[in-house]
Amino acid sequence: MLTAETVDRIVRFDGRNLPVTSLYARIDADPGRREDLQVRVSSMLDQIRPLAKDGGLGHDARLSLRADIARIKEALAEEHWRPGAVAIFSCSGRDLYEEVVLPQLVGDRVLVDAAPYVRPMLTALSELHRACVVLVDRASARVWEIYQDEMRELRSIRDKTVRNSIHDEALSEYRIRNKADEYAKRHYRNVARMLEELLRAGGFDLLIIGGHDYEVPAFTELMPPDLRAKVAGTFSAEPGSAGWRRGGVAEIRARAGAILAQYERQAEQRLVAGISSRVLAGGLGAAGLDTCLWAGSVAAVQTLAILDGSQEPGVVCDQSRWLGLTGAICPLCQGATRATPDVIAELAEAVVADGGQIRHVADSDWLTDYLVAAELRFHAPPPPQGSV
Ligand SMILES: [Zn+2]
Repeated sequence: MLTAETVDRIVRFDGRNLPVTSLYARIDADPGRREDLQVRVSSMLDQIRPLAKDGGLGHDARLSLRADIARIKEALAEEHWRPGAVAIFSCSGRDLYEEVVLPQLVGDRVLVDAAPYVRPMLTALSELHRACVVLVDRASARVWEIYQDEMRELRSIRDKTVRNSIHDEALSEYRIRNKADEYAKRHYRNVARMLEELLRAGGFDLLIIGGHDYEVPAFTELMPPDLRAKVAGTFSAEPGSAGWRRGGVAEIRARAGAILAQYERQAEQRLVAGISSRVLAGGLGAAGLDTCLWAGSVAAVQTLAILDGSQEPGVVCDQSRWLGLTGAICPLCQGATRATPDVIAELAEAVVADGGQIRHVADSDWLTDYLVAAELRFHAPPPPQGSV
């Protein structure tokens, strides 16, 4: 499972004079196209192979790079990658080899440089939610984390109940019930405190709660507002029953997955509706690739909505970070531009690098006409002559 620590290690990695190989490859869901994957990755490795013989690199650097190529070839032969994309970062001489599975957003690319090329990875990961699932009843709670397609248990607690703490037979029915409610409340507060700790540690950005219908509201009522704001949905479950203990985890995963999918669909619809009304009102919104590219060039994009599967060729200036549809010369700095097969991916990377957000939208009639649209931080100045 991909952890924040792994991502952090890659981002901060320092090859100390040894080159780092970064390779991104699209993984098709259709097994019939797997041969194509072999060809594409092999040809990317062929691109960097001359470097491993280059006298310009030191002896250790060449050895490390050669080992990188061999290791990636080995991984390619095993071919255990899930559909989507894979990012590989390797610096054999410094003991770095990481494969990161990404949702399908990233085009093929290979680079050998002093540092890992992490921008496409960070862009793709920025869209994923880290969700926390808690199954709670009056005395116990189990907490899992869902990230990408995996779920792992983080914590579990069991608090005192009346049954295991009151031995005084003389207590009245009324007092026992009171005591039980008091214990339950104390337990719910413990669970909330634990979730707040996880939240503060950056452990999740969405919360899903499962439990008895009559107990979940009693729990959510006791949650502090910052925690309640993260709730994506709740589902009903019998935490203590034998069925949940046996096939339970798969069932919880399925319920939580359905809530997440619905939450994301609704968030996408809200985003698109918000942008379209901004655009209609002449407010801080933009629609269409040319206007969004210009807004991205001046770091004006707060949130970029991209229609799923959109890809358009274009040009990029690596000096001034101007993005455009055509033009061999950058209108901002008069430098030469670089042609790219997917300028939408370059725009997404620029937006995330500027601290903005991206969202791929699966289904929207309005967005289908534009491919991309954006919430803006400020109105972009008029574009330079001849740039669009
Ligand atoms: Zn430029």
